[in-house]
Amino acid sequence: MRLAESLERKGLRSVADLLFCFPREYEDFRDRRAIADLEADVAQTIVGEVIEVESKGGFGKSRVGVVVEDQTDALRAMWFNQAFMRDKFHPGQRVQFSGKPKRKGLRWEMVHPRVAWLEDTDDSAGEEGLLAVYSLTEGVSQHHMRRLVAAAVTAHADTPTEVLPAPLRDQYGLPGLADALRWIHAPRNEAQRDTARRRFIFQELLVLQLALAARRLQHRLGFRAPELAVDRQLDARIRRLFPFELTAGQEKALAEVATDLALDTPMNRLVQGDVGSGKTVVALYALLACVANGYQAVLLAPTEILARQHAATLASLLKVSRVRSRLLVGGLAEREKAEVRAGLVAGDIDLAIGTHALLQEKVRFAKLGLAVIDEQHKFGVRQRAALRQGQHSPHYLVMTATPIPRTLCMTQFGDLDVSVLDGLPPGRQPVSTYVVRPAEASRWWEFVRKALRDGRQAYVVAPLVEESDATAAASVEESLRALAEGELADFRLGLLHGRMNASDKDAAMEAFRLRETQVLVSTTVIEVGVDVANATIMTVVSPECFGLSQLHQLRGRVGRGMHAGYCGLLVPEEPAEAALQRIEAFAATTDGFALAELDFRMRGPGDLFGERQSGLPPLHIADLARDGEVLVEARNAAADLFATDPGLKHPDHAALRRQMLRRYGASLDLGDVG
Ligand code: ADP
Ligand code: MG
Repeated sequence: MRLAESLERKGLRSVADLLFCFPREYEDFRDRRAIADLEADVAQTIVGEVIEVESKGGFGKSRVGVVVEDQTDALRAMWFNQAFMRDKFHPGQRVQFSGKPKRKGLRWEMVHPRVAWLEDTDDSAGEEGLLAVYSLTEGVSQHHMRRLVAAAVTAHADTPTEVLPAPLRDQYGLPGLADALRWIHAPRNEAQRDTARRRFIFQELLVLQLALAARRLQHRLGFRAPELAVDRQLDARIRRLFPFELTAGQEKALAEVATDLALDTPMNRLVQGDVGSGKTVVALYALLACVANGYQAVLLAPTEILARQHAATLASLLKVSRVRSRLLVGGLAEREKAEVRAGLVAGDIDLAIGTHALLQEKVRFAKLGLAVIDEQHKFGVRQRAALRQGQHSPHYLVMTATPIPRTLCMTQFGDLDVSVLDGLPPGRQPVSTYVVRPAEASRWWEFVRKALRDGRQAYVVAPLVEESDATAAASVEESLRALAEGELADFRLGLLHGRMNASDKDAAMEAFRLRETQVLVSTTVIEVGVDVANATIMTVVSPECFGLSQLHQLRGRVGRGMHAGYCGLLVPEEPAEAALQRIEAFAATTDGFALAELDFRMRGPGDLFGERQSGLPPLHIADLARDGEVLVEARNAAADLFATDPGLKHPDHAALRRQMLRRYGASLDLGDVG
């Protein structure tokens, strides 16, 4: 393959691409020693010339030895069962080995050191600095890549247009582009490397924040929504429906929602709060405010179980009102679905409750004013467009199931305004959580039986790798059988998992709600939002299979009524150390915000929120789990820039604006901003 082709495969087509292909990491040359000065068992780096390459043995137990020499002494590097290493060395090469040496007889030895193949230029460049390491593509060696980038930097570091205006660089202490390019590729020390990296991280996050700000602005200017005013009388009428005083957090969120709804620009608001903080109240309030203003409202849930539960809650709240509400989910008979759709188009239905299928089925509304999307991370910019008609957009209220890590909230959800519900309703007792070892399992089950005999109900949750996997589903049935014949033989058990059809799921939930079954053996389909106040005790089998936010969400299913909640995490015989630490951290914390941050730091955004189709392109150099502080700075900077120059029309901002449109124009549908 030709070099140009290889580079192109990595997206490197121009000098600019090379300049902005940032190192993956750096080799530290400064702990470099002469071989004669090495110390045993301490990580160090040596540079020398390959004198000899030897290999021994065949399949399964080969050994490659490479002897290098500098002016002071010789050292042997060893590889076991990596016969291919033999071909990577030949006498006369200059190489760098990093690792912990040991004294073997008369000679130093390093086993499986990290290797860099050097040329004379590298050697002098790295003499007192850090050597860049690039991620490579087939057909381009590290050495080659370094030379290409170094040539590009030498000749063209001053060429690209500076994007960050000087006052901004001064304010945030960021180097200019040319210096930053030189330093990031060939830093003389950590300070240079870190300053340069910080500049590019800042720049990347600033451009993202500007794009999100532009998106919000465009929303305000580009779409009309109905003004849904809530006067004192309507407010009082809605509040009368709730059989409790609202919490301070709920009050604050309601005020923010009411303010948004009264405007003729669409609300785009995210409500996040800990499990059990009472987000549903906020949703119901908004729905009823909308209907009272003569517009239709829709409540979208991620599962049929939840949609049905919301429908039931609403039906009981609205027993005496004239609100015409209907359920629309995939499991309904075709005739009934058609009837609901007709009612929505004709405007005979005020309030539709359903799953996201509601969107896919080409449902039309006569006068849609509000869409509430519950417990949902998958509802991105694009999906929201589905409910718009021309310049008319409903108001949007998005409710998350669990708290979202702060940095994700500012990026993946950054196109939304945020209300945080802090605090739990009064009288709520934190769920007591126990890590249950196999030896203690029978005592735990005795505890469960006692709660059941006291009239309470219980969940048993088992993991499924794949909701649709037949064998995995059988494993929940297996748990059920084992419990029915063993620990819970005297009680009425029900089964719930994702492979059951809609009406069976519904029946299982209903039987549990009516206390016909005392124990619900389930997969994580009960994870979000299910609310049965009499269920107070949860057993999680193999908790190591779940993320912390997911466990927190599961745990939130109990302790919802007046009764204290309990959660037992049945760990396996010999759990992995890391898994056990995670689970113990979880058992010790009831703060969902703290758990979300912890989960995010340990597992990264992919696992947690990868499913949300935010549609944003991935970040190149910034890492949200690490760069939270820079993100806050970038966000402030973006807000300041937008406050003085909303469309980024000033000539000093032209380069920023171009970069914003190039990077996010399509994914955020920015069109022609300003
Ligand atoms: P989540 O935020 O997890 O969706 P929910 O909205 O399901 O929480 O509310 C959890 C429980 O708390 C429900 O049973 C609800 O009726 C109750 N609840 C909500 N707000 C209050 C309040 N202000 N006072 C007392 N109970 C409340
Ligand atoms: Mg909820």
